[in-house]
Amino acid sequence: MHNLPTWLAKYTASLSKENLHHAYLFYGREGLGKKDLLTYVSNTILCESSNLISCSQCKNCKLILSNTHPDLHVILKEEGKKNISISQIINLREKIYESAFLGKNKIISIPNIESMSRDASDAILKILEEPPKDTFFLMSSNFIHQIPSTIRSRSIEIEITVPSFNECREWLSESYSENIDLAIELSNNRPLIAKNLMDLNILELRSTFIKDISGIIKSGKHIVNISEQWCKELETLPLKLEWMSYILIDAIKHESANEHADVLSDSENITRYLGENSDIFNLHELLNKTNEIWNLFSGDTNLRKEYQLQSLFVAWESELGISSL
Ligand SMILES: [Zn+2]
Repeated sequence: MHNLPTWLAKYTASLSKENLHHAYLFYGREGLGKKDLLTYVSNTILCESSNLISCSQCKNCKLILSNTHPDLHVILKEEGKKNISISQIINLREKIYESAFLGKNKIISIPNIESMSRDASDAILKILEEPPKDTFFLMSSNFIHQIPSTIRSRSIEIEITVPSFNECREWLSESYSENIDLAIELSNNRPLIAKNLMDLNILELRSTFIKDISGIIKSGKHIVNISEQWCKELETLPLKLEWMSYILIDAIKHESANEHADVLSDSENITRYLGENSDIFNLHELLNKTNEIWNLFSGDTNLRKEYQLQSLFVAWESELGISSL
């Protein structure tokens, strides 16, 4: 059934069916597989086996496999909604105070718990304070500091840490054969982000990105064309902004006179050049500005992206451009 990647397996090793707490909160950066972990733990708690496994034979496992287990409640933000709403939790409450359909455990699984509205979060807290019998809360968050302390204090918090380079490589090489190291490097060892990059055909994307950025720095000639092009490829736009940030961070690392700065290898020529030729104050200023636009673009805003991007490129050209040095 559902197999847990190696770097996640250690988090279930300390859990046993006899003494499960009624609420767990897994937290850590995006792209480490927290959702997979929630699914895995949910399934093993529901399985009739006395160990934390999914036997895939019992009635519970079969219902999970067919996606119809009546005691598994997964709360997700509904399509087009800003957050998980109070009505979803009211709906949940009606179901979970009745006895379990299969007479055993019930699971409430909430990935990205930070996306709950204030009301929803208060309502969840009420349930957490007096949980129905044999009910387990499994929650996860990329932003633990946004979670109300009242919810945190009632949960066992488990931090999911970034796996090693080798763990990432081992997992990715099950599905891919090329560009694995670059993907791991670019994702900062976050396997699911790396996988996503592979699926987006990163090598091509990345080399075009580097060509675009060096073009902007060298001549500033194609700013309008490049921002038009980037805005057409909306799906990869936040990623490119993120990469722009990395270029500045790497340039700052070079600037800090680090002989062997730990920087992304494929953009090292650019970042070394910038580090040696730019003012550190300007690099920091530009990094703030770039991060600001990256944040804006990561949300669902209707702002005029092309205009924002162009003005960012102009700032890059004027701060870093060869002609200005
Ligand atoms: Zn089973």
